[in-house]
Amino acid sequence: MAGHTGDANENGEYQGLVYIPITADNDFTAAIPTEKVDLIYLCFPNNPTGATASKEQLQAWVNYAKENQSIIFFDAAYEAFISDDSLPHSIYELDGAKDCAIEFRSFSKNAGFTGTRCAYTVVPKTLTVEAADGSSVELHKLWNRRQSTKFNGVSYIVQRGAEAVYSEAGKAQIQQLIDFYMDNAKIIREQLTAAGLTVYGGINAPYIWLQTPHGLSSWDFFDKLLNTANVVGTPGSGFGAAGEGYFRISAFNSRENVETAMKRIAEKFKV
Ligand SMILES: *Cc1c(COP(=O)(O)O)cnc(C)c1O
Repeated sequence: MAGHTGDANENGEYQGLVYIPITADNDFTAAIPTEKVDLIYLCFPNNPTGATASKEQLQAWVNYAKENQSIIFFDAAYEAFISDDSLPHSIYELDGAKDCAIEFRSFSKNAGFTGTRCAYTVVPKTLTVEAADGSSVELHKLWNRRQSTKFNGVSYIVQRGAEAVYSEAGKAQIQQLIDFYMDNAKIIREQLTAAGLTVYGGINAPYIWLQTPHGLSSWDFFDKLLNTANVVGTPGSGFGAAGEGYFRISAFNSRENVETAMKRIAEKFKV
């Protein structure tokens, strides 16, 4: 995004980036690279696959980052959807993460702030990197300077809304909303499975990752789904080369729409 990569090849992969495909073959877990990388972006529970990372898996990433002086960007946008108590909600649950990880948190998915906009970034004060001249730089100071210079802040009314997320009433309302969407996810999983389709995710994340039926490409399935069932979803190939042959279905909708959409998909794509 910042333009520091080389050009893209015909698969859309940019030079200077190390891609970590998460596929059914590796159970949608990210395999640690064999070479040294500077920055690591991880998102668990994952958008789009709905996959999760265990404490052991994330600890291995933290250990790798510390050994290689890499920085982990941990995107925790979907942590509120975790129901399995053994899964970590934050990278800071792992030993040593405060020395190598930055975490993103957002109110977009837990409290529906996608339009109103409020989120935050955790940059631990213990996180330092080596500058080109060999000196040690505190990233917290650098980030604070960047934020207080370039960003005028979230509007006060939206901040008060975000604050209410942590009230007793707010917490109860959010849990109710999450439970509702996760019931949608369960319906989607069950109905698609009953129709003979192969699905992943949708247990600790609001996304179901569907293997496209009949060997269709992501976009061919998108077109067929739109034109024969009048249902819209997201082609997996839009998320990168490893998403080809998959399709993302979101649980963020009314019960009525979910039930209608699943009935139509089952009718048209039963295998
Ligand atoms: C929605 C989402 C976010 C949150 O983005 P905002 O800019 O806070 O709305 C972050 N990461 C992922 C993977 C998401 O899907």
